[in-house]
Amino acid sequence: MRKSKELKIHDLTFEPFISNIQIKERVRVLAGSMNAELVNKNPLFLAILNGSFFFAADLLREIKFHCQISFVKLSSYAGEKSNGEPRMLIGLNEEIKGRNVVILEDIIDSGYTMDRLLKHLKEHKPESIKIATLTFKKEALKVSLKPDYVGFEVPNKFIVGYGLDYEQLGRNLKDIYIKKED
Ligand code: 5GP
Ligand code: MG
Repeated sequence: MRKSKELKIHDLTFEPFISNIQIKERVRVLAGSMNAELVNKNPLFLAILNGSFFFAADLLREIKFHCQISFVKLSSYAGEKSNGEPRMLIGLNEEIKGRNVVILEDIIDSGYTMDRLLKHLKEHKPESIKIATLTFKKEALKVSLKPDYVGFEVPNKFIVGYGLDYEQLGRNLKDIYIKKED
């Protein structure tokens, strides 16, 4: 019998993993660190769509100083491989040169996506780049990369909710769910 808290999306079954209350608490802590560390840096927050929209919305409402926010997207195209392929940054209208950039991501898994994004941004000569990720699959990391702000270190399993999707569904869930083992 299926437990009531379980959730089915397409062919997969998920179970509750991180509640919205836990997320909100943790996001407030991250924002607190940023309020202390970035207050005089005039940061430019770059939220990576689609997955980071809840994270960005909750985090940025806790930022106590004036800041610029831009929502950008990495292009994807049919047949894209999980690594190696260059992806373009869409929607970047701000001048990056000389800015203290703070990337807001939903998840770092292998790290290939973030690695490519960093390389791309560095070409624009920012003063600094910091990485804030809501979730981090540290055990899955395949590149040398150290996020500056991590919401939750998560196991190397598939998660959905709070912006994260499974084949475009589940982004609107308030809580984060984890794939149930068969
Ligand atoms: P990367 O492996 O390059 O660090 O992550 C690539 C992308 O895979 C992420 O931006 C995210 O869209 C997706 N991804 C990786 N792990 C998960 C996961 O557990 N859940 C969901 N929903 N997406 C994931
Ligand atoms: Mg993403």
